[in-house]
Amino acid sequence: MQIFKEIAPLRAFLSKNSDSASLGFVPTMGALHAGHISLIKASRHENKFTACSIFVNPAQFNNANDLEKYPRTLDQDLEMLNKAGCDVVFVPEAMEMYETEPLIKFDFGELDKVLEGKFRPGHFSGVALVVSKLFHLIKPTVAYFGQKDFQQFKIIERLVNELKFDLKLKAMPILREADGLAMSSRNSRLNSKQRTDAVVFYRALTEARKLLKAGESISSAKETVAKICERVESVKLEYFELAECNNLKAVENVTDNTVLLIAGFVGETRLIDNLLMTE
Ligand code: AMP
Repeated sequence: MQIFKEIAPLRAFLSKNSDSASLGFVPTMGALHAGHISLIKASRHENKFTACSIFVNPAQFNNANDLEKYPRTLDQDLEMLNKAGCDVVFVPEAMEMYETEPLIKFDFGELDKVLEGKFRPGHFSGVALVVSKLFHLIKPTVAYFGQKDFQQFKIIERLVNELKFDLKLKAMPILREADGLAMSSRNSRLNSKQRTDAVVFYRALTEARKLLKAGESISSAKETVAKICERVESVKLEYFELAECNNLKAVENVTDNTVLLIAGFVGETRLIDNLLMTE
């Protein structure tokens, strides 16, 4: 496995060694877990060459404390990637990606004003900026993302379509812990009590879906979710919404194209999760 910290040698290596017709790419912020590795494995399965990036992107953090506290486990990450058969890892410092303060801002209209975008202003502009840079550098044929970041995937789809990036996007299923908690780098910041509490978001999603499938109204499902979360002291619900999968618009009637999305804090740690009606 080749590791690069700088853009120029990465570009030189990829143009010489990678198979430009079959290059899978997995962008990450590190603190890797089995969810990330499932993306690497999917890429390995479908491509001749797999590249991964590890970069805690300052431009997508709207909270300095969250950026500072974001878990960083580089040695362990590199070991996991090597074992998973990744070919190239790009691990830039912030200065390598942002020599100057970035001026470019993205606005995705309705897509980035709801859900995460409402609670994390500027977040998706930062995501779109770093993903654009990484796509330019790596020039993948396929890029792999997790359904865990449902809205992020929709934004990146729009980015790729509007800017005509010549690549395919794939969304992969959410990997969960045995109790249902969605795997996340942020889970490592939970103490053992909080870790137990954190499963409440998944429980609330599955309970809401069950009620909706049984014909309960959206408002009664929302009330139930609020109650389930209120019962756990360390948990603070930020939102529970039902949206149209394609455009993230709030739904009035649940269909097979509806996604249930939830976000909130467990202690100081902010977590997100989602569930499709059809899953
Ligand atoms: P992150 O390092 O959190 O930016 O995530 C990097 C990629 O891994 C994103 O496309 C995420 O959606 C994806 N990912 C994160 N958690 C999971 C999970 N539990 N299962 C599958 N993919 C995930």
